Amino acid sequence: MPSRRAEPAPFPLPPNATIGIIGGGQLGRMSALAAARLGLRCHILTPDTDSPAGQVAAGTTHGDYDDPVALHRFAESVDVVTFEFENVSAEGLDLLASLRPVRPAPAILRISQDRAAEKSFLNRAGAATAPWRPVGSRDDLVAAVAELGLPAVLKTTRLGYDGKGQVVLRTPDDIASAFEQLHPKPLILEKFVDFSHEISVIVARAEDGTLASFDTVENRHREQILDLTLAPARVAPEIAAAAQGLARRIAEALDLVGLLAVEMFVGADGRVLVNEIAPRPHNSGHWTIDACPVSQFELHIRAVAGLPLPPAVRHADAAMKNLVGLEEVALWPEILATPGLCAHHYGKREARPGRKMGHVTRLFPKGALPGDEGVALALGPVPFSRAG
Ligand code: AMP
Repeated sequence: MPSRRAEPAPFPLPPNATIGIIGGGQLGRMSALAAARLGLRCHILTPDTDSPAGQVAAGTTHGDYDDPVALHRFAESVDVVTFEFENVSAEGLDLLASLRPVRPAPAILRISQDRAAEKSFLNRAGAATAPWRPVGSRDDLVAAVAELGLPAVLKTTRLGYDGKGQVVLRTPDDIASAFEQLHPKPLILEKFVDFSHEISVIVARAEDGTLASFDTVENRHREQILDLTLAPARVAPEIAAAAQGLARRIAEALDLVGLLAVEMFVGADGRVLVNEIAPRPHNSGHWTIDACPVSQFELHIRAVAGLPLPPAVRHADAAMKNLVGLEEVALWPEILATPGLCAHHYGKREARPGRKMGHVTRLFPKGALPGDEGVALALGPVPFSRAG
């Protein structure tokens, strides 16, 4: 049983202090492993009795994210609260924030939980997004299609991830069925971006305003789930730099204390548009565990604990491939037998279609990231979807 404490430890947290993480998935697992290296403990809140994060943490409170009794028990066991999972209720977060510091602040999580709030915030902060309109009714949708044109993507404003809650509209005939599919949830319509690349930047920010951002990386999706990340992104230096500038500007506009992932599209015209933000470690930063002295998970823990943020440097180029579903995780014995593959398993007992089970990272000397054929060769038994 974790000890109950009346007062949380002051920042910077000393060794053996406890960071509370809401959510028991692989992002919490890898954060807890990074915290352990710094002598810090993690305590997980999750309803799952055998969670990936709980398996490696110092303690777990089993309970629902909106159960006040569980939230109280969780808060009393920790010095600071953070999250690896964004779908926590606003009421639950407010309760936690009344008991313990919450980093990043609940207001930031609220923005990232709602696509309309997120895009309004981004546009106000001077970050371009795909043109979008809020959609509350079928008439709104017809008007939005007339304004934005087709193709376009209709998205639920909340609880969407990995392409869930999205429908692409290609012709006016799609309007009625798309609306029926997603209504009555609040929706937005977004112009479909003709992109050459999807890229992302992960940035950490400390209370004193210190920023640390990893190099811009390139992401490839398969069935709207991240498949492959290449570090650094194979884009022109000015595009990589524009992405860095956007991520840093957004972190500052949010007054972030913690870690933030910014996903972006590079338009066919070379413009960089922000797709979405996530105030937590991100799948497109997993390569940093093996390619950087301080990973995204350690930066997350350091920022939340009030510890110094070193620059987010890397010592290698990297290709990170997710292991999704039963078929890819079934390659585990071959992966372990392949020299040069850094293998990560999340400890999930059951593989399901689309479920992220682990990942592998292959490192290359800095500046020597190969083209698709070379990456395929280097990943050995693990296939990935090639560009184009
Ligand atoms: P999201 O849940 O918004 O991150 O979307 C998941 C994936 O769907 C993105 O990574 C893109 O590959 C694709 N996507 C989402 N929105 C758009 C858009 N407006 N234009 C083109 N592709 C999109």
